[in-house]
Amino acid sequence: EYKGMSKERMMEIRRQNCNPVTMKITYYKKPVFIHQGHMQWLWDVDGKRYLDLFAGVATVSLGHCHPKVTAATQRQLKRLWHTTNIYVHPTLHEYCEKLASYLPDPLKVIYLTNSGSEANDLAMLMARLHTGNFDMITFRGSYHGGTQQTMGLTSNSPYKYPVATSLGCTNTMNPDVFRGPWGGSHCRDSPVQTIRDCDCAQGHCMANDQYIGQLKETFATSVPSQIAGFFAEPIQGMGGAVQYPKNYLKEAYKLVRERGGICISDEVQTGFGRTGSHFWGFQGHDVVPDMVTMAKGIGNGFPIGAVVTTPEIAASFGKAFHFNTFGGSPVACAVASSVLDTIKEDGTQQNSLNVGTYLMTELAKLRDKYEIIGDVRGKGLQIGVEMVKDKASRDPLPPEAMSEIFEHVKDMGVLIGKGGLYGQTFRIQPPMCITKEDVDFFLAVFNKAVHGYMDRK
Ligand code: PMP
Repeated sequence: EYKGMSKERMMEIRRQNCNPVTMKITYYKKPVFIHQGHMQWLWDVDGKRYLDLFAGVATVSLGHCHPKVTAATQRQLKRLWHTTNIYVHPTLHEYCEKLASYLPDPLKVIYLTNSGSEANDLAMLMARLHTGNFDMITFRGSYHGGTQQTMGLTSNSPYKYPVATSLGCTNTMNPDVFRGPWGGSHCRDSPVQTIRDCDCAQGHCMANDQYIGQLKETFATSVPSQIAGFFAEPIQGMGGAVQYPKNYLKEAYKLVRERGGICISDEVQTGFGRTGSHFWGFQGHDVVPDMVTMAKGIGNGFPIGAVVTTPEIAASFGKAFHFNTFGGSPVACAVASSVLDTIKEDGTQQNSLNVGTYLMTELAKLRDKYEIIGDVRGKGLQIGVEMVKDKASRDPLPPEAMSEIFEHVKDMGVLIGKGGLYGQTFRIQPPMCITKEDVDFFLAVFNKAVHGYMDRK
């Protein structure tokens, strides 16, 4: 039973002492006051239980207060919290060896940070130092961080401030096979395809050619002939689970490397088994990046991030002293190490594949039933449901309508996320321990919310 501070008092403090922007985004019209969590469940201060299908933005990868991770954290908390890495402590070494074993050669050198923005900021710096070039390319609609440097990589205007964000960042066309100008029913690697007819000729993806053509145009128009790097999320997160044509990243990587650039896979949301078929999202695109950045799910909600790269790139980064007080602290390493063990022991990746595929297949039936569900996509438990005014126009469902459905789903006890450039995509990125029963409950709730909205309209 909750006996803490009242809701009114919390809101008062929020008004007086908290980042004022957070007042605007309590996410719901009637905010959710969370007090406790266990696995896929959250309880508010009134004791109401929610099924959490957003996991604090794909972060609580294994479950709230997962008993195995909690136990590992407690063991470390009693032993050693911190020394700064000027000394050698075993936890960091055990973890780095373990994490490296999950990555293909030559990705073996690890830099530990405290967040995804910090990891991407570092990756950018390393790419520039290694290549001797300056320009970075990312997709429109991507999110790679909120620091002044990474804000240039991020391409989503609500997250951009009117200051000189990182120079040398160019955002190229998003190869979005649902909302973009090209795309069709065989383009992407998902159990559910788009509703658009495919332009493919004899198994050749015409949409891919078009989007790659746009990237080539960016090379021709917007950057010097030599670039520093290219960042891509294997499936966009904040962008709303946007997926690219199957061969896009493979071809893009080749073009980037021809121009002296290095390829960076931002696995902040897609890593650690979330896409189900693979441990890392890039593996689903059949590419090996030069650098992988990670955060969120790496620590099941504990702050830790990482950049993993090759010995050659790491060597180019040795000319000055890179220091990070908290990066790789004994506690963070113990948590992250336990996360890796738990993924194995709990069969988390397999569950993500099974439950995610089931969820998308069932959601596709709702898409066929309702005019306003335009697209269902994703892999494993990285899922997007894009809402439209109607299927013919594919115009985004307006924010008020999104909000009405979103709020109703919450009132019925399920928390999901929102994303996309126009806030038009519901995001489902739960703790990966969810079951088919949880999915059935969500489907009933979502069906009811969409049905209710259509009835009122
Ligand atoms: N990359 C991606 C793909 C993200 O989704 C985010 C956070 N939403 C970040 C980087 C930045 O991570 P952080 O908030 O930990 O700085």
